[in-house]
Amino acid sequence: MGPRAIFITDEICQVGGSGLSAPNDAAVYLVSLDGCAVLIDAGCGDADDMILANLEAAGSNPARIEALLLTHCHYDHAGGAVGLRRRLGCTVVAHALDAPFIESGDDVVSAADWYGASLAPCVVDRKLGGAREELTLGGRTISAIHIPGHSPGSVAYLVESQQRKVVFAQDVHGPLHPSLLSNATDYRHSLQRLLELDADILCEGHYGIFEGREAVAGFIRRFLD
Ligand SMILES: [Zn+2]
Ligand SMILES: [Zn+2]
Repeated sequence: MGPRAIFITDEICQVGGSGLSAPNDAAVYLVSLDGCAVLIDAGCGDADDMILANLEAAGSNPARIEALLLTHCHYDHAGGAVGLRRRLGCTVVAHALDAPFIESGDDVVSAADWYGASLAPCVVDRKLGGAREELTLGGRTISAIHIPGHSPGSVAYLVESQQRKVVFAQDVHGPLHPSLLSNATDYRHSLQRLLELDADILCEGHYGIFEGREAVAGFIRRFLD
């Protein structure tokens, strides 16, 4: 199977994940706005070459990737951060509440030990704080919304593309576990917050891409009940 990408809008595609890169990789998305681009999540680090090949297959120039936006500290999402940061020369962005586990390579809180693996530590160049921050890419905005619960510093990224609200909320499904420092009350509030975004498209980390407001809300509600 050669390099490939799955397009979601003309500006957004999936370039990594199980079936596209390494089996343990959560989804990796590419957002290209006005000639500038970011990656959302990095996979576990087992298949950086394939992610880069998929990027190029999508027509993206790796030199134009400004930042890697991490949704949270878990191994399947953040393990590849250090390699991609070095190879792309991009900054790494994560919430301040998850950043310490990424920077120290914490195998327990990152769940790396569930995979029999180790989280390669990575510098977090920009630490997000508070409930919501706006990031600028090209002349456009990507909102970073704090959705704690699955991990303390989980973040959803929201962008409007071709008149559609696209939300990257990678581990909507959880799970919740004490070793991940999960919090069930926060998780329910965060699901409610995600519902209120009224997104047209949801890009999940493991369950794929949901299109249409009904499908997005239906998936989120499954975990509220
Ligand atoms: Zn996770
Ligand atoms: Zn995950």
